[in-house]
Amino acid sequence: MASPRDLLAPLDTFERRHTGSPAADVAGMLQTVGFDSVDALADAAVPANIRLKRPLRLPAAASESTALAELRAIASKNKVFRSYIGMGYYDTATPGVIQRNILENPAWYTAYTPYQAEISQGRLEALLNFQTVVTDLTGLQIANASMLDEGTAAAEAMMLAHRVKLGESHDASVFFVSDKCQPQTIDIVKTRAKPLNVSVVTGDHRTYDFAGKVFGVLVQYPDTTGSIHDFAAFFEKAHAAGALCVVATDLLALTLLRAPGEFGADVAVGSAQRFGVPMGFGGPHAGFLATKDEFKRQMPGRLVGVSKDAQGNPAMRLALGTREQHIRRDKATSNICTAQVLLAVMASMYAVYHGPAGLKRIAQRTRLLTRMLADGLKAAGAKINAEPVFDTLTVTGIAAAQIHAAAAAARLNLRPVDASTVGISLDETTTVEDLQVLISLFGGAATSLHTDRGEVAAAPVESDYAAPFARSSEFLTASVFNKYHTEHEMLRYIKRLETKDLSLVHSMISLGSCTMKLNATSEMFPVTWPEFGRLHPFAPADQTKGYAKMFAQLEKWLSEITGFAAVSLQPNAGSQGEYAGLLVIRAYHESRGEGHRNICLIPTSAHGTNPASAAMCNFKVVPVACDANGNIDVTDLKAKAAEHAANLAALMVTYPSTHGVFETSIKSICKAIHDHGGQVYMDGANMNAQVGLTSPGYIGADVCHLNLHKTFCIPHGGGGPGMGPIGVAKHLVGFLPSHPVVPLHHDTGGHHMGAVSAAPWGSASILVISWMFIRMMGPDGLTRATKFALLNANYIAKRLDALFPVLYRGAGGLIAHECILEFRPWKKHGLEVEDVAKRLMDYGYHAPTMSFPVPGTLMIEPTESETKAELDRFCDALVAIHGEMAAVASGESDKLNNPLKHAPHTAAVVCATEWPHPYTRERAAFPDKWTRAAKFWPATGRVDNVYGDRNLVCSCVGMEAYAEAAKPSPTHA
Ligand SMILES: *Cc1c(COP(=O)(O)O)cnc(C)c1O
Repeated sequence: MASPRDLLAPLDTFERRHTGSPAADVAGMLQTVGFDSVDALADAAVPANIRLKRPLRLPAAASESTALAELRAIASKNKVFRSYIGMGYYDTATPGVIQRNILENPAWYTAYTPYQAEISQGRLEALLNFQTVVTDLTGLQIANASMLDEGTAAAEAMMLAHRVKLGESHDASVFFVSDKCQPQTIDIVKTRAKPLNVSVVTGDHRTYDFAGKVFGVLVQYPDTTGSIHDFAAFFEKAHAAGALCVVATDLLALTLLRAPGEFGADVAVGSAQRFGVPMGFGGPHAGFLATKDEFKRQMPGRLVGVSKDAQGNPAMRLALGTREQHIRRDKATSNICTAQVLLAVMASMYAVYHGPAGLKRIAQRTRLLTRMLADGLKAAGAKINAEPVFDTLTVTGIAAAQIHAAAAAARLNLRPVDASTVGISLDETTTVEDLQVLISLFGGAATSLHTDRGEVAAAPVESDYAAPFARSSEFLTASVFNKYHTEHEMLRYIKRLETKDLSLVHSMISLGSCTMKLNATSEMFPVTWPEFGRLHPFAPADQTKGYAKMFAQLEKWLSEITGFAAVSLQPNAGSQGEYAGLLVIRAYHESRGEGHRNICLIPTSAHGTNPASAAMCNFKVVPVACDANGNIDVTDLKAKAAEHAANLAALMVTYPSTHGVFETSIKSICKAIHDHGGQVYMDGANMNAQVGLTSPGYIGADVCHLNLHKTFCIPHGGGGPGMGPIGVAKHLVGFLPSHPVVPLHHDTGGHHMGAVSAAPWGSASILVISWMFIRMMGPDGLTRATKFALLNANYIAKRLDALFPVLYRGAGGLIAHECILEFRPWKKHGLEVEDVAKRLMDYGYHAPTMSFPVPGTLMIEPTESETKAELDRFCDALVAIHGEMAAVASGESDKLNNPLKHAPHTAAVVCATEWPHPYTRERAAFPDKWTRAAKFWPATGRVDNVYGDRNLVCSCVGMEAYAEAAKPSPTHA
């Protein structure tokens, strides 16, 4: 019997919910792997010279309810004031049907990036809707499926313009930025421009003379002060000077305003935040980027396109992948990998729910309120910016300090501009009562907006614009935006899409390198607490003490876990962490008079983001070879470090390697780099094999990023959000990112690298997820999780090695937390690894990582949070598939007409009158008994990637016509 002490312990301890299998199962797994204990396995797998000598110094584990209570207390230190700050962030009413069924729904938030199109049609459709919203409203032809935020989208647009003009062998190097853009956007653009030797000129577009060789211009519409300019003449001048025109804009305003594509814009960027996504103290939100068809191959980020499946039905998948970092590496159009899919899905659903008329009404209401406010302020004697405006007024000639004090007393925030100026931005949630409060702050009569009978007394004002500002083109005419306007219809539409997607609610998703572990419900709860969700990122510090405390704790914990001196929470994806970390290294070299150092060594096995990020810093990538065991070829590395010693800037190294191996030589690798004057950047995507056992700092790295959406439990969201904070050693602390609006505490060294994200702490609101994880696991729980990640991976490797050989191993024949399985020998029988990936869908599984880092392989990472029962079910599926492959190899099954080549099998195919296959329908759809108990039906047959890229359709407008053209041809079996 348990002791009283044990029985009285909290019932809701977390670690047992997160990690591993029942004790008896663990014993069985250990036996299979050949160890007596999990500790013994970890001792054998991790090289002794990098093992930490002491436990992590973190608070002991708290139970689920205790951790939530503690975070509640922290959250209560945040003050939720009404925000009129604007600057790209607006309060919004998230429709309940979207909050509950998407934002708070694991079926949506635990999905992976939709690379396996057949089991991702739901979010692909939502993303196609998002792209349509953006192209329709901006009046441009093509938009991608989200950017990380508005500021980085503007920087990506600058780089797009630069590439286009370099492609025309233009030597232009000047980028003009209107000084009326959002300040954080200007700062990010400058940060980006510096390493590329682009000179950013800021000023007034009305007087800009295009001196020098200008390749692009960026303006804001409406601008940061609220004014709306007619850019047609300016863009004509810009085009005549050979420049591309970029507009940062606002989707809600565009429902009333002339579309940028109609006055000459080549690129439009912005944020879709106010389409139903909470401000979250800075994020996450979906940025967007739209451009002309002629620049589509220069676009950054992921793009959803329509293609057809094996039956000739229309089906969506990611298009033009050849632009991206995973293929083009340092020649990629950008380094973006994880984007903001969940938030783009939410924004698209907001547009679906409101429809074009509903959106326009929200915009007209916002505009009307702004005009009423303007009238009230003018009556009170204030000076404001001239018409036309949309939602933002800049009030001048006032004693700003007094106004802010009165505003704070009324629990609201205005934008501080200077001693005699404030800004006021209204939004969807503003009411007439709010206007009265605002007007009275400026000494106006508080009752001026109502008649004696209590009716609104506003003078009738035009809610639409006059030419040339008025929008004349229609938008969102596609049927999807015009039929789901009741909650029942909306709920069922969301549900229909949801059921097409396979996520962690169905089965393990063993994507190597992506660490698809448990995203616990208790970790997710705080994300939608108003004390975290409703804060403006530039709210005054005395209102955000809860956030400050949570950041300080999380930074401290992550510093301890990484073995570094400090952490910056600003980068909002792993790719952005890489870029920020390399900028830190660049700034460090510069500070020592070694700004010429520009060589970045990167092993050939590295993730595509590594070389793409290096290119953004204008580093020259020198690849380092790997040996037959999958390890960095140390001889080659040392030779290259020595050869480039004079210019060596950095090594980018992933540890354990992307081959799933703990390289024993890692310490000497770091030393060789340091000996030649370089810095070591560690890609922390594989931290799940390090936490508590070793650390980047302990190993000898100088910087690393962490993918909080991998090791630290932020869900993948179907392709984002993520967070990519960086940790740095002591000598680099002064070089961490700064922010132009909010001073950051690292920012004391005077180096001012600039901002890498629009918000000072990136996607702040989802940091609570990682906070909860670390708080609930404690130092022992985190360390055990790492050990179980090793056990689970080695168990899978042992179970499958005889059928599909494990490609690389470390010392003692062990792997780290993931393994690469070999499928290339099956090529001679006409079987590709893709056939295995698609066949796994029939068994209810998402394929592991395919063909990265080695073509023709699968990389499996089970994580610590799967039980033996689930690991066995997955292995059984691969064993059964091996049987099907062997039947093809032996000639027992037809080479082409077999369950592998026709996978995945849809319900429509299995139920069809015709069944032209030699295997049974049962074999096709119910290959194992668990599929009888819970069948996941792939929504489409195998998607034809090539067809879609040749016939690019990227919005739902063209989808119906396309469906017609793609009708099944009689020859298609
Ligand atoms: C996921 C990953 C990245 C990129 O991180 P994102 O958050 O997707 O930008 C970089 N390197 C490795 C090894 C990864 O697995």
